Amino acid sequence: MDLPQDKNSLCIFCYHRANTFDLSENCDGFSESDFLKLFSTYIHLEKECYEKVPVAQLMFCEKCTEIITSFCECSSKMELPCLEMNSQVQKLMQRMMDADKRQFEVSLFGRQFESSVHEDIMKMRKELIFHCK
Ligand SMILES: [Zn+2]
Repeated sequence: MDLPQDKNSLCIFCYHRANTFDLSENCDGFSESDFLKLFSTYIHLEKECYEKVPVAQLMFCEKCTEIITSFCECSSKMELPCLEMNSQVQKLMQRMMDADKRQFEVSLFGRQFESSVHEDIMKMRKELIFHCK
């Protein structure tokens, strides 16, 4: 295999010779930076792992670009349902937070269960609210 003469001409993922075009040309407006953020978020990568990477220097080969393009397309399709789900999550969280302000109903609810069961339910509610934020 020939050694590449140009600096930074290999794909960051598979080390094959990279394409010279911008990702956004065939990835429906997604830039390298958009893709990296999206992908990192999707796999729950900590921001510290990629924030120092010089995104403008990232190169992808043809095959990896196909995979990336497909990933970005899937993400586009999921965007609306995700926004809608987030909105429902926020509504449910708000209802739980409002309910916790109504002391009479809080204690009424508590009397429906044995105390250990009630404790577990309230712990779960607290975690649900925390994670909905
Ligand atoms: Zn590649």
